Amino acid sequence: MTKILIVEDEQGLVTLLSYNLEKQGYTTAVCMDGHKVMATIANEKPDLILLDWMLPNISGVELCQMIRQNYETKETPIIMLTARGDEADKVKGLSQGADDYMTKPFSVPELMARIGALLRRTKNIPVQENLSCAGIEINFSTRQVTRDGQLVHMGPTEFRLLQELMQKPGHVISREDLLRSVWGGSIFVELRTVDVHIKRLRQALNFGKRPDIIRTVRSAGYAINIDKN
Ligand code: CA
Repeated sequence: MTKILIVEDEQGLVTLLSYNLEKQGYTTAVCMDGHKVMATIANEKPDLILLDWMLPNISGVELCQMIRQNYETKETPIIMLTARGDEADKVKGLSQGADDYMTKPFSVPELMARIGALLRRTKNIPVQENLSCAGIEINFSTRQVTRDGQLVHMGPTEFRLLQELMQKPGHVISREDLLRSVWGGSIFVELRTVDVHIKRLRQALNFGKRPDIIRTVRSAGYAINIDKN
């Protein structure tokens, strides 16, 4: 059973979401109080979280950070729900750890499609040979990434992006190809989303002023730098 936690303070929306999610075969849990989110997550152990950006007392940004910093939930996929259509807020939400974003009022079929796509891309990370290059190592059995032997924390989308880039070190992979392999070619995801997650991946990998390991090739895509200068 796939369980989805709805974090939302509008009763009408909670009812609509629960009804539609259960119709799709998901189990649901609800939290309407921002202060109880972390406790609810610990109890319910959801597979995915729908997170309202505008909760009383606590912001979606703070909650995103708390979820990502918690060892148990650092890889739980998050879709942010927001009333704002502002592009800056979208980027902010994604940069704080959300995996996807929807603006209210949203279409229920589109949300269901996005949930399905996000679950597919975060659940099906195949166990394979570990990858390493330029001081970075991906261990697929522990799902940990290290750089120069130090653990690097990242969300599930960044993990998948890094995996794609590390499979062909030095090769330029187009944003379209990254979108297809990491997001499963979801028609709802824009190319700019790839850039936002690459930015987050960079922030995670380039800790302690380490040189940037990801090369941006204008109008072509991204590559892992193999010559560390
Ligand atoms: Ca709200």
